[in-house]
Amino acid sequence: MVSALALPPTGSAQAPAPRITVRTIPALPVRGTIASLMVVPDPSGSPNDSLIRLAGTAADEPLHFDADGAGDGFHALLGIPLEGGDSVEVMLVLERSGLTDTTTVAFAVHRPSYPTERLRVDPRMIRYDSATRVRIESEIAQAIEVSRRSHETPRLWTEPFRPPRPGRITSRYGTGREFNGTLTSRHLGTDFSGKPGEPVRAAGRGVVALVADFFLAGRAVYLDHGGGLVTGYFHLSRVDVAAGDTVEAGAVVGGVGRTGRVTGPHLHWIARYGGISVDPVSLLALRY
Ligand SMILES: [Zn+2]
Repeated sequence: MVSALALPPTGSAQAPAPRITVRTIPALPVRGTIASLMVVPDPSGSPNDSLIRLAGTAADEPLHFDADGAGDGFHALLGIPLEGGDSVEVMLVLERSGLTDTTTVAFAVHRPSYPTERLRVDPRMIRYDSATRVRIESEIAQAIEVSRRSHETPRLWTEPFRPPRPGRITSRYGTGREFNGTLTSRHLGTDFSGKPGEPVRAAGRGVVALVADFFLAGRAVYLDHGGGLVTGYFHLSRVDVAAGDTVEAGAVVGGVGRTGRVTGPHLHWIARYGGISVDPVSLLALRY
């Protein structure tokens, strides 16, 4: 099945580029999610066309390909920006015995409709003084650095991702936030209910890249799962891990809390592919 419009590969002068099928799982990915990208070489191709290595970029982020278990293709994670356009362009570099070809594939992406939460607050609550703005900027830079380094970490997870809390989801990813009648932002995480101190668990195997006490996020743990994928656990009452620890999926990383910029205790769970914020719930559908 081909679910993409593939442009003819730019073959080298010596030989035409190998024929490949490129598809995504799901077939119509959603903006603001993580999807899988599959590249399958044409089985009728000559053995000399066997791909040795695959690389690529999409939405300004590098792709990290693994040969799949069955040995008949390659897969990579594909982060799809929430505020991107209606298609995502994937640039692939195909390497086989001494030859390198490039090809570009465009995928249509779906934009779901998100609900809007209307909040009425004292305007002073959403305006920060300059010292606070400087602090927030530096904390954003630290989080970006965690994501950048994750592209250099090998993939650390194999088991499917799991939710960090058994509790109810109280606010979904992408929900519009309207303050005093103006849409000011979108909710770039998933909120889970929980009583203070209840366990927050690692969604997947990874290494603790950062333990922080941030103005907005409060006590926060960032896990680097490798291959560009990072999850974060915010507003914690306590942290049970240290930077550099390797944690297994399901390990307790801290407790539900109300630290940082919040109105009550809950877990705000985030996921990023490189610099792209994605709905962490979309990780739960990933199968390798
Ligand atoms: Zn939240």
